[in-house]
Amino acid sequence: MTRIIWHLIKEKLILPFLDIDLKYYDLGIKHRDETDDKVTVESAYAIKEFGVGVKCATITPNAARVKEYNLKQQWKSPNGTIRSILDGTVFRKPIIIKNIPPAVRKWKKPIIIGRHAYGDIYKDVEIVVDGPGTAEIVFTPEGGGEKTILKIYDFKGKGVIMGMHNTEKSIRSFAQSCINYALSEKVDLWFGAKDTISKQYHGFFRDVFAEEVERVRDKFGQAGIHYRYLLIDDAVAQVIKSEGGMLWACMNYDGDVMSDMVATGFGSLGLMTSVLVSPDGKFEYEAAHGTVMRHYYEHLKGKPTSTNSIASIFAWTGAISKRGELDNTPDVIRFAKTLESVVIQTVESGIMTKDLMLIAEPPVTKYALTEEFIDAVAERLKKAI
Ligand code: NAP
Ligand code: MG
Repeated sequence: MTRIIWHLIKEKLILPFLDIDLKYYDLGIKHRDETDDKVTVESAYAIKEFGVGVKCATITPNAARVKEYNLKQQWKSPNGTIRSILDGTVFRKPIIIKNIPPAVRKWKKPIIIGRHAYGDIYKDVEIVVDGPGTAEIVFTPEGGGEKTILKIYDFKGKGVIMGMHNTEKSIRSFAQSCINYALSEKVDLWFGAKDTISKQYHGFFRDVFAEEVERVRDKFGQAGIHYRYLLIDDAVAQVIKSEGGMLWACMNYDGDVMSDMVATGFGSLGLMTSVLVSPDGKFEYEAAHGTVMRHYYEHLKGKPTSTNSIASIFAWTGAISKRGELDNTPDVIRFAKTLESVVIQTVESGIMTKDLMLIAEPPVTKYALTEEFIDAVAERLKKAI
């Protein structure tokens, strides 16, 4: 469904207004299959070369998709491929609209979640212990040297053990990406961990963040933004009590949990944007949601759909605005900002897709179909330009 929306956005909201040289990489499942997924790799290198990309949601094939599209193999997640080439961090940011109130009433500005996407429990090893015995943690240095052995626990009966790790390189990249993004959005950077309990592991994260922030102290000063380290439980309380407007850097598990809490708290998946930022400052924008498959099957049956295109439109405006910033072309940035405000005005005037209609305040009684919404935005955009 997002592929259909994608072409509508391009044809109706971008190309009539902007003279732009787009380098197009078709990441549709059929084309990825035809090119043995080389197109995904090429698209990632294009982002590296040009600095900015905008991506449509893609299918990560499971067994059912392999059959449906008669694929050569179960290709890997394109997002995973692109992320590993760019070595990036994903930031999720909600779009705020007056008549779509967040569940947390005090939230007025976006809360951006930056999730560390490497290691911890996501790359752990685990043992279920059957009976009494001793669990130890062992580090063997490469090329000899003394082993470090620490006792974890003397088990008297059944239990569980987990071993996990992270690397300085990955944590440093994560901190740098968060710093770049906070500077680019001009928002405060918060990082929460539990270093009172996990003095070494979480303490290591805290120290790497502090070192990286120290390096850019001047830039933070110029941007008028601040860095704040908090205990993770305090961070949760402070975020809920706040008006929003910060980048919240989260360790892997915290980010997994908190991004869903924040997305739900703000309303709809159709209002959540996502951007991948590499430590060397390359940006890839997309909607946080998937291809909205259920709606597509309705569409194939000839039934009308009401799919929210806002996060996809904002993926475009995010990328266009960044392009303008890098090229120093204020007209381009102005166009992106105009399109964003036109989208918001359209919803605030009561024209919205079904997912938003269900939570709008004051209530609306009629919802717009997928294309009707984009047409309504296009009409307003013509007047605003
Ligand atoms: P999804 O596309 O995010 O949709 C899940 C449900 O959320 C939809 O069925 C719909 O609910 C609601 N929804 C999401 N976005 C919406 C929008 N813009 N407007 C209105 N409702 C929206 O997840 P999925 O259906 O589980 O996944 C479909 C495909 O997307 C899969 O192949 C998956 O691999 C891929 N995916 C890609 C990305 C990416 O490229 N970044 C991310 C996630 C998933 P209702 O059905 O209740 O209307
Ligand atoms: Mg999750």
